[in-house]
Amino acid sequence: MPLAEITARIHKAEAAAGRPQGSTTLIAISKVQPLERVTAVLDEGHRVFGENRVQEATGRWTPLLEQYDRLDLHLVGPLQSNKLRPAVELFGTIHSLDREKLARKLADLAQERGHCPKLFVQVNTGAEPQKAGVLPEALDAFVGACRAMDLTLDGLMCIPPVDEEPSLHFALLRKMAERNGLTGLSMGMSADFEQAIALGASHVRVGSALFGARVSAG
Ligand SMILES: *Cc1c(COP(=O)(O)O)cnc(C)c1O
Repeated sequence: MPLAEITARIHKAEAAAGRPQGSTTLIAISKVQPLERVTAVLDEGHRVFGENRVQEATGRWTPLLEQYDRLDLHLVGPLQSNKLRPAVELFGTIHSLDREKLARKLADLAQERGHCPKLFVQVNTGAEPQKAGVLPEALDAFVGACRAMDLTLDGLMCIPPVDEEPSLHFALLRKMAERNGLTGLSMGMSADFEQAIALGASHVRVGSALFGARVSAG
């Protein structure tokens, strides 16, 4: 689906929810997409992209950063502590903070660099054993622990279980964000970004609807 069509759908969903046009950031999830699909979207003027693997993203985006201004890269996939340094160098926002050990290392890196990426805490709203994220009942304490380390948090992120109504998870995430004084809500993907906007998403993460089906798993 062309970028203009996704953008039009986002604007329509914002209007339906009584939200200002442009209040949702579209993160174009370019993981494992062929380079020509990515440059096509770049050449249309889009600058906000998301990837799920640090190493692949570094390989792809390092040359593109030379060619395109104002790129805004988001890490939406799992973060290992041994990849933290390259991650904070490449990404302006990390959506997958979910462990105290990571938070501590991020806090140390922020001290050292005098700068920290924007941070979203990933919440495992469906309490799925195979999925990353802080469990809902542990979230408030986790937020408190991050703040005690002087980390500034921007919001919460979730990936609802595939077989459940996503709106329930979006509503839960919003409630948890409100309760913790957080305004960012990273929620909604290709199949459900309009529902996420209706429930207050600040960032939607759209991959296949924009670029076409991914060639390999990712
Ligand atoms: C791949 C991915 C997306 C995009 O998924 P689509 O269904 O292709 O839009 C969004 N968020 C995360 C965390 C992902 O890994």
